[in-house]
Amino acid sequence: MKISLKELKKREEDSFLLEYRENLTLGEDKEYTLSSPVFVKFRIFFDRSSYNVVIIGKLTYTLKLICSRCLEEFEKNFSLWVRGIFKFKRDYYNEKEIELTKRDLDIFYYKNGEIDLDKFVIESIIVNVPMKPLCKEDCKGLCPICGTNLNIETCNCKIEDIKESPFKVLSYYLGGGKVDNTKKENIQSKKR
Ligand SMILES: [Zn+2]
Ligand SMILES: [Zn+2]
Repeated sequence: MKISLKELKKREEDSFLLEYRENLTLGEDKEYTLSSPVFVKFRIFFDRSSYNVVIIGKLTYTLKLICSRCLEEFEKNFSLWVRGIFKFKRDYYNEKEIELTKRDLDIFYYKNGEIDLDKFVIESIIVNVPMKPLCKEDCKGLCPICGTNLNIETCNCKIEDIKESPFKVLSYYLGGGKVDNTKKENIQSKKR
């Protein structure tokens, strides 16, 4: 969804509600995707002197995420408050907007006389994706030894079974190069 400056100028009110539903994609190569359209509800404020636009609103959507413990895919509903400012010129703020931008307002710019609401929506969703998503609060994760998904079944691994030094695996994560990846591959193949 885009709104042009022309449309904004034509409106009688300087503030209006905008509601719509849109299918969006968050980009390639991401560990998360949108699995629902995004329901957008915005209040849009237009400043006739600067042409700047302030948006305050709410996004409702469902993400498909990968659990950081058990590596299974799951879906989660979100309801997110957002606000942003679309500036017409790079250096022009009025006083009220300076007050607002101090309060953590995302800044965007007009492009070809239009404000691109999709861009604002997509970036807002991306920065709010949880860093360590969990399929459920008490996800038991994978057994670090055999890779069993402990939410589904149990295994008989014991601490005594850990014979290999964890530093071997660690050095892989620290960029130490091609260290024995079999443990990791075991976990991956269990999943398949
Ligand atoms: Zn999980
Ligand atoms: Zn195990």
